[in-house]
Amino acid sequence: MKSVLEPVKPKAINLLDFDRKGLAAFFVELGEKPFRATQLLKWIYQEEVEDFDLMTNLSKSLRVYLKENCYIATPEIVIEQIATDGTRKWALQTSCGNRVETVFIPEEGRGTLCVSSQIGCALACTFCSTAQQGFNRNLTTAEIIGQVIVAQKRLGPEKKITNVVMMGMGEPLLNFDNVVAAMNLMMDDFTFGLSKRRVTISTSGVVPAMHRLTQVCDVSLAVSLHAVTDELRDELVPINKKYSLKELMEACRENAKIAPRRTITFEYVMLDGINDSVQDARGLIKLLKSVPSKINLIPFNPFPNSAYRCSSKEAINRFKTLLNDAGIVTTVRKTRGEDIDAACGQLVGQVEDKSRRHLKIKPVGSEHAA
Ligand code: SAH
Repeated sequence: MKSVLEPVKPKAINLLDFDRKGLAAFFVELGEKPFRATQLLKWIYQEEVEDFDLMTNLSKSLRVYLKENCYIATPEIVIEQIATDGTRKWALQTSCGNRVETVFIPEEGRGTLCVSSQIGCALACTFCSTAQQGFNRNLTTAEIIGQVIVAQKRLGPEKKITNVVMMGMGEPLLNFDNVVAAMNLMMDDFTFGLSKRRVTISTSGVVPAMHRLTQVCDVSLAVSLHAVTDELRDELVPINKKYSLKELMEACRENAKIAPRRTITFEYVMLDGINDSVQDARGLIKLLKSVPSKINLIPFNPFPNSAYRCSSKEAINRFKTLLNDAGIVTTVRKTRGEDIDAACGQLVGQVEDKSRRHLKIKPVGSEHAA
């Protein structure tokens, strides 16, 4: 066992990278008791103390060790935009110089924070502007929970973050460990204490990771479905070529079994003339028969050079009525923060693309992407 006075690497460890279990293991490795984890979480998240010297219930030698080897750092807000409807969008600078975006959506009685999981996105959903940015890297746990910390600080005690949705930039299930640790922190009684119903992870359908999630982390699940045939979904959400609708629905059924009365939210972007017909609605009803589901219809939010149009109000209402009549709770997502490009699929940040995607993809708009 290492002595607490024996530094490992200078200033190597960001303590925000650990959830409670991770912190306990870290302390045990230092020859400390696991309850130090709770003490440290209280200092950081409840007392908002970052200076180790002030953490008076830790021994002097442990404080010295932490000072020499650890730090506490969040990404920094570099731009704040406030929409006319009160939605706020922040651009956060990461240590590597890229920027990710976080959005706060105030509603009657609740405040939802939309959190990013990656710098850019490695998937290539044709209707999403984050996809056009390419991909740089996964965010660390500290950078994910850091979005909640800086947002809550900025909002002040009057505006509480009551819900978190992992629906910002990136595919959260392709950054599994860091996202799960950050969600554990959001739900920890010594940090933000959000209930599992108020933390939602949204996935485009990374099926093996969905199975893993079901085993290790009980949070609400949203699935970006958008199409009811493999043929169309292969095109709109290309990860479908790897994991078909059949496999996706199986993973959903398995997740729904975790808890009684659990429902899965299916997100369905409304694209004019692409996926909004009566036949599509009927296909959706049939597909979701075996899964306890809610549907969230998302009016398509355009972005520069996007190749789609949003379905008409009439088409959206017709679609919604068909689903409701079939007994599926269906809501239409209110578009929020449109005037600051904070709506679904409009988050772009500043991404130095390492995937060289732009070399592989034809410019959108040069032909119809569908
Ligand atoms: N990668 C995850 C998390 C992103 S969540 C996922 O795919 O679920 C963002 C949600 O907004 C997803 O449902 C996504 O499909 C949807 N979306 C993306 N671009 C959009 C756009 N231009 N208009 C409306 N919704 C969009």
